[in-house]
Amino acid sequence: MNAPLSLHAARRPAGGAYEAVARTSNEVAGRLAQRLAQETQGEVLFSAADRGRYATDASIYQVMPTGVFVPASHEDVAAALDICRELKVPIVPRGAGTSQCGQTVGAGLVIDHAKHMRRVLAVDAEARVAEVESGIVLDHLNLALKQHGLWFPVDVSTSAQATLGGMAGNNSCGSRSIAYGNMVHNVLGAQAWTSDGALHRFTRLEDCEGRAREIGLQVRELAATLAPEIDRRWPKVLRRVGGYNLDIFRNQNPLAYTGDGSVNLAHLLVGSEGTLALTRSLTLRLSELPRAKVLGVVNFPTFYKAMDSAQHIVKLGGDGTLTAVELVDRTMIELSLRNPAFAPVIRSAVIGQPDAVLLVEFSGPDKPSLVRKLDELVELMGDLGLPGSVVRMEDDAPQKSLWEVRKAGLNIMMSLRGDGKPVSFIEDCAVPLEHLAEYTDGLTQVFRKHGTRGTWYAHASVGTLHVRPILDMRTDGAAKMRAIAEEASALVRKYKGAYSGEHGDGLCRGEWISWQFGPRIGEAFGEIKKLFDPIGLLSPGRMVDPPRMDDTRLMRFPPSYRVIPLKPALDWSAWDVQNDPATERTTRPGTGGDPALGYAKAVEMCNNNGHCRKFDAGTMCPSYRVTRDERHLTRGRANTLRLALSGQLGPEGLVGPEVQEALDLCVSCKGCKRDCPTGVDMARMKVEFLHHYKKKHGHTLRDKLVARLPDYARRASAVAGLLNLRNRSPLLAKLGEKMLGLSARRSLPRWQRRHFFNDAPRTATRDEVLAAARPVVLFVDTFNGFFESANARAALKVLQAANYTVHVAAKLKDDGRHLCCGRTFLASGMVDEARAKAAELVASLAPFAEKGIAIVGLEPSCLFTLRDEMLAMGLGDAARKIADQALLFEEFLAREAKAGSLDGLKARLRPLAQRVLLHGHCHQKAFAAVSPVIDVLKLIPGVEPALIESSCCGMAGSFGYEARHYELSMQMAELSLLPAVREAPDAIVVADGTSCRHQIHDGAQREAVHAAVLLAAQL
Ligand SMILES: Cc1cc2nc3c(=O)[nH]c(=O)nc-3n(C[C@H](O)[C@H](O)[C@H](O)COP(=O)(O)OP(=O)(O)OC[C@H]3O[C@@H](n4cnc5c(N)ncnc54)[C@H](O)[C@@H]3O)c2cc1C
Ligand code: SF4
Ligand code: SF4
Repeated sequence: MNAPLSLHAARRPAGGAYEAVARTSNEVAGRLAQRLAQETQGEVLFSAADRGRYATDASIYQVMPTGVFVPASHEDVAAALDICRELKVPIVPRGAGTSQCGQTVGAGLVIDHAKHMRRVLAVDAEARVAEVESGIVLDHLNLALKQHGLWFPVDVSTSAQATLGGMAGNNSCGSRSIAYGNMVHNVLGAQAWTSDGALHRFTRLEDCEGRAREIGLQVRELAATLAPEIDRRWPKVLRRVGGYNLDIFRNQNPLAYTGDGSVNLAHLLVGSEGTLALTRSLTLRLSELPRAKVLGVVNFPTFYKAMDSAQHIVKLGGDGTLTAVELVDRTMIELSLRNPAFAPVIRSAVIGQPDAVLLVEFSGPDKPSLVRKLDELVELMGDLGLPGSVVRMEDDAPQKSLWEVRKAGLNIMMSLRGDGKPVSFIEDCAVPLEHLAEYTDGLTQVFRKHGTRGTWYAHASVGTLHVRPILDMRTDGAAKMRAIAEEASALVRKYKGAYSGEHGDGLCRGEWISWQFGPRIGEAFGEIKKLFDPIGLLSPGRMVDPPRMDDTRLMRFPPSYRVIPLKPALDWSAWDVQNDPATERTTRPGTGGDPALGYAKAVEMCNNNGHCRKFDAGTMCPSYRVTRDERHLTRGRANTLRLALSGQLGPEGLVGPEVQEALDLCVSCKGCKRDCPTGVDMARMKVEFLHHYKKKHGHTLRDKLVARLPDYARRASAVAGLLNLRNRSPLLAKLGEKMLGLSARRSLPRWQRRHFFNDAPRTATRDEVLAAARPVVLFVDTFNGFFESANARAALKVLQAANYTVHVAAKLKDDGRHLCCGRTFLASGMVDEARAKAAELVASLAPFAEKGIAIVGLEPSCLFTLRDEMLAMGLGDAARKIADQALLFEEFLAREAKAGSLDGLKARLRPLAQRVLLHGHCHQKAFAAVSPVIDVLKLIPGVEPALIESSCCGMAGSFGYEARHYELSMQMAELSLLPAVREAPDAIVVADGTSCRHQIHDGAQREAVHAAVLLAAQL
């Protein structure tokens, strides 16, 4: 994992922090900011936008903190704690902020542990113990443990984001908790600061010392006094995470908290949601990585039967091999079947049309013994009256695919447009398995009564089923939420379950703690809080004395929420809809009542789940992967836009510096469009923002130079020699940097006097291609036309060799210019100019699209503009038809090869022995257009292309050429792309993106080629 960039590492108020903050906030905030800036090395974030970005988590709540502090070291945390105590400013600790109940929002200083406190401190593989800092992400820990054959098995769905400190804070539970337990079962110790500033080691009570031991003994006394009450009131289910774990002194959990029956004081901190102490490090019990897994997919004719069967299925796990029983209901199955990527996977798992399926996983040391467990499952289902209902998955690959579908189904559910959203507040009540069927049935009726419904999924093995009714928090959502919560709680009580069974208490369940445990245990929780934190410094108003769950003043979308009217430049009407909570059907585009005509509602699709805090080699979000700054995260950007659009950053917020700063490092890779569960498309949002921002502040000379490139390219190429001098003269390069801000450390694309547009081979006319038997239209963009004409020529050669009649797209009326998609204009927010370009394109291409002729492009960012932004420019049905026919060169060839239309070409391709590496352009990844490139390269005999697991190359159009972005651009490339290229010095590197090829040239001094060039070379 790369260290964050130094230029973004320490955001600290320059000069007088006090004046700056006190003026805009208040006196105490000013002193707090001043002292943090003076006495620590961490980041001190007190701007309205920074506070706003930390005012929310994955819950429905929003509370503005006084400020945000990102400590650079443990000393910083300790110092911040002292300062806050002295100034009486509460502290709200935070990890990734993925809590669903509002645990990380609060008025006070939010301390973000995730950015720097993330080391593995020690691993004892033999003893299976690790000590880690609180901000380390679970997936990163497990990556480090893999070499030892070990893992930390509390496998929360947010494993790529969740920090161990946050997991401990919430007493998190994974899909496999039936086998491994919750966090509390897997934490062996903690080092933590209490609010008096003392650092304690919390471990086995008898090994604790000093004040920690004293506290432990006092809590033990409390537990002893309350023994009958604890026995009576405490839910006896594995999944109980509400309240403090007072039962460590009198275990009510079906699974023992410790191996030897001792009491571990660290377990009191687990699930305390940051209210008792600030965690410095955690000591964890590790498990052996399972060597083998098998999956049985049980198909049920009714949901009720599935719920009723769970209690019998779990009995198969007596030998410890049963690791998961997860539910996927009918709605999820249908949603998955609508997705072309998931449909085949789900089809392989279902028999007929089940109402629900249970994924039953067995894990152990070897496959054969697990296969016998599958036999037992099949036999059991026969006994339960469902013979032939189990699909057996013994191989790893189909199992993995199916687990991915299970996760993705939830994501699709979350992408509902309109103000009604699936709201998380009773989504993890846990009931004993024998009552699961009645409980889910009862709750479904409650939803129906309130005019909504829920989709059920997740952990049937432990009686914790997730379900989110659809509520509109801007209208009557809060009132309905309370009514549903009250009826749900009555069901939980009836079935002796736990009201809070996975996601914690926070704001939405705090008031239910005393409901669950009764007043006496509630008072004891107050005592515990006082023992640890007598001054109420740590997350006050949480766990003890909580506010009402439906207090709309604490919500992100209270009824008073207003959007500032705005006339957007792009068409956002598809988001401007409302939905029916009972049917999930949405109204017509443009009828949602958004004063920003859909732009605000598109932005508000971000529900803060934090999925974009990803560090794997996928695309989303490359800028965050480098800076680790919440501001540079898709979530941070969406939040900033939301705050601006709703007037929370002032009346001119949208065109102010805070939005500009948040969006500046967005490289418009569209990674979020693909990966964000709710489809937040920040690249498109940035175009809209830039349109308004530049309207107010004007375009720079560089903006104009880059945007208008398609307009002057022909004239410029006539003086190619002169312009290319810039790349040979350091003086000119420096001058360019000074005048235009284009980095002198970059070479610029080379102009060519003879280029594709003045020296193209003869191709078919419009009429010829319209009449041809094998027609194709080649759309040659500015970059491949003027700078890298060889690519366009190569594509033409390949298409003609494959016996296609090729017409090169041109304007209907020749005015000496070429056709352009408008991409360079969009990158500067010049939407009107881009629209004019796109309109010319539409006029020219419409007749071909009408006839179903493929329109093939070479540059991913240009071609995909036809399938994306061009549809949001009000160009009508013709644009839609063109989008349907617009294909990347390889998409077209792969499609034709599949149809058996490329046999002639295949026969002509000569074999190639050299290794081929492929780097996918971000937009290729966003539009699932990488695998066609692989398929097409494989047409060359001997070629087995290896895909580089890379994110954005960092160049991203003109982004990487800009001097102020140069460092960040190179850091993005160094994350994975450049090292992979360097590691294969003899390989041919294929990259279809013009800017990707330039980045590879600048960063690794290697010449990458377009796939068309490689194919043409083999002819
Ligand atoms: C889509 C989605 C799926 C989820 N799936 C699961 C799931 O499968 N299982 C599950 O259990 N949860 C799940 N969650 C909830 C959440 O992701 C987990 O609880 C997660 O462990 C929280 O980790 P975090 O780093 O985001 O913690 P945060 O949300 O940042 O913090 C959690 C709590 O810990 C406290 N805290 C954080 N760091 C410290 C520290 N250093 N010292 C003291 N207190 C601290 C915070 O104050 C807060 O109370 C899901 C959430 C979402 C959005
Ligand atoms: S941008 Fe998308 S992935 Fe990121 S938090 Fe928002 S909804 Fe989740
Ligand atoms: S477009 Fe790319 S850089 Fe911008 S927010 Fe989305 S993932 Fe991040």
